[in-house]
Amino acid sequence: MPQQVAPQGPTTGLFVNPAAGRRADFEAACGAEFSTLALLDSADAALASPGLASSDLLVIDLDHFDPELDHAGLARLVAARAGAPTLILCPFANARWLRALMACGPVEYAIAPLGADALREAIRARLGGGPTPAAPPSQREQELDALQALRARVRRALDEGEELEGLAERLCQVLCSWPGVTHAALFYLQPGGDLQLQAQSGERSLNLAKVLGRAERLLQSPLRHAFPGLLAAAGNTIALLDDLDKAGEPALSEALREHGVKMVLALPIPSNGPGTPRGSLCLLFREARNFSRDELDALADIADLAAVGLRMADLNRESEEMLVRVTHLSTLDALTGVANRRHGESLLEQEIKRARRYKLPLALIAFDIDRFKGVNDRYGHPVGDLVLRAVADAAQKLVRASDVLVRAGGEEFQVIAPHTNAIDGLKVAEKLRLAIEATAMPGVDQVTISLGVAQLGEHESADSLTVRVNAALGRAKRAGRNCVELAMG
Ligand code: GH3
Ligand code: MG
Ligand code: MG
Repeated sequence: MPQQVAPQGPTTGLFVNPAAGRRADFEAACGAEFSTLALLDSADAALASPGLASSDLLVIDLDHFDPELDHAGLARLVAARAGAPTLILCPFANARWLRALMACGPVEYAIAPLGADALREAIRARLGGGPTPAAPPSQREQELDALQALRARVRRALDEGEELEGLAERLCQVLCSWPGVTHAALFYLQPGGDLQLQAQSGERSLNLAKVLGRAERLLQSPLRHAFPGLLAAAGNTIALLDDLDKAGEPALSEALREHGVKMVLALPIPSNGPGTPRGSLCLLFREARNFSRDELDALADIADLAAVGLRMADLNRESEEMLVRVTHLSTLDALTGVANRRHGESLLEQEIKRARRYKLPLALIAFDIDRFKGVNDRYGHPVGDLVLRAVADAAQKLVRASDVLVRAGGEEFQVIAPHTNAIDGLKVAEKLRLAIEATAMPGVDQVTISLGVAQLGEHESADSLTVRVNAALGRAKRAGRNCVELAMG
């Protein structure tokens, strides 16, 4: 059996954690590894300790520390070690400040929770052979190069288009190209606050929606404290599960292991202000490994890029919605919801072109409410408005889907009827007349309409067709109203 190399000479250690129980546990598990072990409850106490610079190993256990309150003190402590061996025990669910502490001096980390044996092994490794057998510099460089290439690919993926679905898919595909990554996912916090599995890529047989039991409302998932992708999005933190069992959810670990996953890393996708992140990027690895400070920085850059991409997708969607709204406003009549006059004119031009190209007939019907001024005078303008709406609704229900109902102005409407000749146009007009006559009008007994019908001539313009149909309508009025007249050729 290989023997653990015993440290040379007396070894001194410092362990820092605010909880008395944690200090006692550490002493019980690892006290025997040190000739002298000082247990300290705060960064300040450690900073004041005479053995700080000279001790063989400083162990900072981040559990029970507060990233906001205690960061400055711990950063000073790391800096004061000036490169002497320092080990950070970092809870898997809160690796956010690991990166920040790594920026203060060379530190190594182990992801907690660690059992007593694993903890002892981690300590022995640091005491025995100096720093843990880190990857040789050339390999480190290669790994960093790979990450930088990945970052460039992420940037290109974002340039390819701004629609959320495609963007999320491409991001996940690109992340899978990072060596060691077997599957990647993007969790996205919808504007309403619902965290969803937006996209995933990689291992075909692995479906995270199945593993997590759902793809939506993931902030309410019972696994939100265990699965890094959810932890990162909910807690705005880096979550690094380097041993699936540390999450304490055996079914989850089992499901992931079945697909060859050994480690899960997730990074929050920052929002552009304070508050909850936009979601998270989640990477599933084939093997557990440690990350250097440069690697964690590069990964955070990638999450920032993803945030920019999501913001672009949002803006794009918002401007499209705005366009739809503006188009809606500019083409529809506000009172009746049918096409307004301007839109009607352009649709008539289009339909005339189409009718010419395909040599199909086109009919235009014009109608006007009879004695509508009297309705306003007798019942008031608001009732007149209701009547206008009721007439438009009744007409809209009656015409075909391919017909266009237009409010041409005041109480005058038109129906543009493609594929319709004069005879069929007359039939439609008569149906409209009967329908309006039979429709119960709000606040009024009954209204009637007069109608003109015209079929487009072979070389006729929209203007000429309109003049002819209005002339026919005029004749219907003069003929006593509530009737249909066909336009002269
Ligand atoms: P005719 O049978 O000859 O068509 O008689 P008429 O009273 O319907 O004709 P006229 O063109 O003299 O009157 C149209 C009326 O329609 C006058 C106007 O106040 C009313 N009107 C136009 N637009 C609206 C509207 O948006 N709401 C309401 N309530 N009335 C409108
Ligand atoms: Mg009228
Ligand atoms: Mg009129």
